[in-house]
Amino acid sequence: MKSCPYCCSPGDFYFRIFSRIYNRCSGCDLIYKQTQDSYDKILTHYREDYFGRYSADQVEGSRNKLFDYVLDLIGERKKIGRLLDVGTGSGFFLVAAQKKGWEVKGIEPSKQSVEKAQRQYGLDVFKGTLREYNGNGQFDVITFINVLEHSAEPWKEIERARSLLKPEGLIFIRFPNGFLHTRIYRLALKCGLANRVHKFLVFHQFCFTPKFIRRFLSDCGFSGIIILNSPPSEGDPAKLFYSYIFAQYIKRSFHLMAKAIEVISGRKILVGTSLEVIAIKR
Ligand SMILES: [Zn+2]
Repeated sequence: MKSCPYCCSPGDFYFRIFSRIYNRCSGCDLIYKQTQDSYDKILTHYREDYFGRYSADQVEGSRNKLFDYVLDLIGERKKIGRLLDVGTGSGFFLVAAQKKGWEVKGIEPSKQSVEKAQRQYGLDVFKGTLREYNGNGQFDVITFINVLEHSAEPWKEIERARSLLKPEGLIFIRFPNGFLHTRIYRLALKCGLANRVHKFLVFHQFCFTPKFIRRFLSDCGFSGIIILNSPPSEGDPAKLFYSYIFAQYIKRSFHLMAKAIEVISGRKILVGTSLEVIAIKR
């Protein structure tokens, strides 16, 4: 069994989906692909293919309300200042942040996305990755919205992000709930329903569970770690449901249920489809 790429503890087989095998670390609870894609392979995909295949959900504005929610959540904890968004796509989050008064900068590897962000919105976006970014400006806030789980080595990204944060700077990360998605899939495998449910589930390079994220950010020099269920995007950008209205109803109902469990359990049980974490640089 391949050991955990983060903490090197032994990892046990957890599940297989198509040709991909995922292991789960017995130490830190990271769920990871047994055969991991290289940094260069992942980067090539985001540089060349991502915009054409996946930018529709950005263009259709399905995350606009989510972005306002994220900015309000951050605004409750930080005074308006400098904000860096990693994997910013075409810059819709930056546009929303700018409207609220933030001085914004983005980092994005896709050439088409960067061109759109620069030409259409006049945004300051660096074409490349966080590792390639040499600017030494200091930021009050750094955001990773559905980005970090795609990375080859998230710990390097967070280490670099930390170095770019001002003292007591805030990090915000949104990611699919690895705890929920992997358990539903394993249950579906046992019940013979895997083919029906897999399209609703998300497995990237890594599946982050609350347990892993808490330990990971603490190891990386962050404190005040708060993990919450994150609201869903609007409508049905991935075309998984029969209609927009039906998708809205299902997603909102599930989120309300997850929020109720979160409150009742004192934030200990998090079963939403997406999670978000905020933490402060120590
Ligand atoms: Zn581990």
